[in-house]
Amino acid sequence: MTEAERDFDAERGRLIREVRQRLESLARAGATNLPRVEVEVVAAVVREREAPAPAAVVAVAVESQPIARPRPIEPVAAPKPSPPPAPKPLPVLPARSLFDDSGLAAPVVPPEERPALLAALAEQVAGCRKCPHLAATRTQTVFADGSPTARLMFIGEAPGADEDRTGVPFIGKAGQLLTDMITKGMGLGRQDVYIANILKCRPPENRDPTPEESANCFPYLERQIEIVRPEFICLLGRIATSTLLNTALSMSRLRGRWHRVHGVPTIATYHPAYLLRNPAAKKDAWEDLQMLMRAMGLAVPKRKGPAE
Ligand code: URA
Repeated sequence: MTEAERDFDAERGRLIREVRQRLESLARAGATNLPRVEVEVVAAVVREREAPAPAAVVAVAVESQPIARPRPIEPVAAPKPSPPPAPKPLPVLPARSLFDDSGLAAPVVPPEERPALLAALAEQVAGCRKCPHLAATRTQTVFADGSPTARLMFIGEAPGADEDRTGVPFIGKAGQLLTDMITKGMGLGRQDVYIANILKCRPPENRDPTPEESANCFPYLERQIEIVRPEFICLLGRIATSTLLNTALSMSRLRGRWHRVHGVPTIATYHPAYLLRNPAAKKDAWEDLQMLMRAMGLAVPKRKGPAE
């Protein structure tokens, strides 16, 4: 079986599970019919997953509406002369669902209130013991770095040894490359963006986070996204991408095009640690950053990228 066939099988299985769970939950909530508009949304999502729009087309759409939040779903026009009752509004859906193309539910936090809210959240994270084994092995939690009003949020996987020691994300070798990508590549300062991770604790031996650890930590990241409310998100690597986009597709299938996380235009690209091990992939990562820069209205330099 080829990688593409495996990807397709994994994604099809996940879609079927998610559709089944969704239908069961609607049935439990007393629904007897599925509104036509939702069927269309499902069909559109399935179509998009099977034949993703070319990156250029999606990029143009995003560039023309950089911070557009998805509009609420309009009820289907009732047929005349005996209109059926208007469909009930859909229930609020759990985050990271295939069906969750909504914008962030929480109100926008005024910029001047963000530092205090983030500091309070960081304190809560510092006392977190939801994963007792990680709490026992960490030196400290690693919350985030950067601006509470950043337009762009980078999301990585989990702290490594250097981050565990310093309490600052992306500070080791991979962090140096990320800093170069931001400063030399995008022409921004590291303090202009916001950098966070899926996990706030270092997994021993830098192993992958378990699904349970990611699920425990995820509400903190969601709250960070809600408070900072970035216009754009850049997911770094397989773990951040599969967690936030809830997909088993490989990075080669997910990079180079636009996604949304809670309505926020999002790209996925290779993790800087992967780029250090596979320098040939730096060209693709630089293309991803350029796509992001065009959407953000940043000047794209003609020279080669920071990583080349
Ligand atoms: N890798 C990550 O994903 N995050 C860090 O903070 C450091 C390395």
